[in-house]
Amino acid sequence: MNAQENSVKKRYLLFQNMAKKAGKKILDLIYPPICVHCNAPVVSSDSLCAKCWSELRPISDPICPVLGLPFGVSLGANALSAQAIANPPEFDRARSAFIYGDVTHSIISKFKYGDKPELAKFCALTMGSALAQMFEDNPILLPVPLHKKRQRQRRYNQATELAKELGKIKDLQVVLDLVERVRETKQQVGLSAKQREKNVAGAFEVKSDLIAIKQSQRIVIVDDVMTTGATLNSLTKTLKKAGYKKIDVISFARVVKDGEYPI
Ligand SMILES: [Zn+2]
Repeated sequence: MNAQENSVKKRYLLFQNMAKKAGKKILDLIYPPICVHCNAPVVSSDSLCAKCWSELRPISDPICPVLGLPFGVSLGANALSAQAIANPPEFDRARSAFIYGDVTHSIISKFKYGDKPELAKFCALTMGSALAQMFEDNPILLPVPLHKKRQRQRRYNQATELAKELGKIKDLQVVLDLVERVRETKQQVGLSAKQREKNVAGAFEVKSDLIAIKQSQRIVIVDDVMTTGATLNSLTKTLKKAGYKKIDVISFARVVKDGEYPI
């Protein structure tokens, strides 16, 4: 590209940026931004009002060092949760930014099924600061893949949008074509932990011809919500079979409940 073409391109990009900003301002006048959960007016779109912010329940220490489940009281630095002892997961560590509740339910439903991929930014920003220690050794981010058919129906994969935003915030590589969801699985809603495990067994396949990631590299699997961890476990198992050893999982919200799972 010569100097003249370069300057034309720069001016075009500047114009495009200004038009985008102006467009957003006009849209904000026609449709003033509202809280994702309760529809109260807010300053910027795709965010929460102060009241809903205060209702979010961040997961903080003390937690199970493996499953990331919050403990009511501290049981000592290396104490594991009963779940981690009874069913040790395939992955090294799981961490989530928030306990799944009414507000996170609204955000996730709109993000996942409401054709609002722009909510990825809000979720990634909160995950980026709440889960900072998970990004310390420059891992590669891997979104949980959707089956092709489901992705066509939903238009986008929410986990991919989340991983891309996190990648931008944390300056990390995101891999989209390492793993494929080869089997269409039933929706997990209404299934028990055991049924979920069976439902997602063998659902993923590492595309061996595309492996360009060092097997010593830490991989952080990204998802919007973690329920029993069955899908994340199945995906980790597939990665381990392909030789990857260091695998963590992160999500925006986490269902902290025994027995029935709401999603
Ligand atoms: Zn609100």
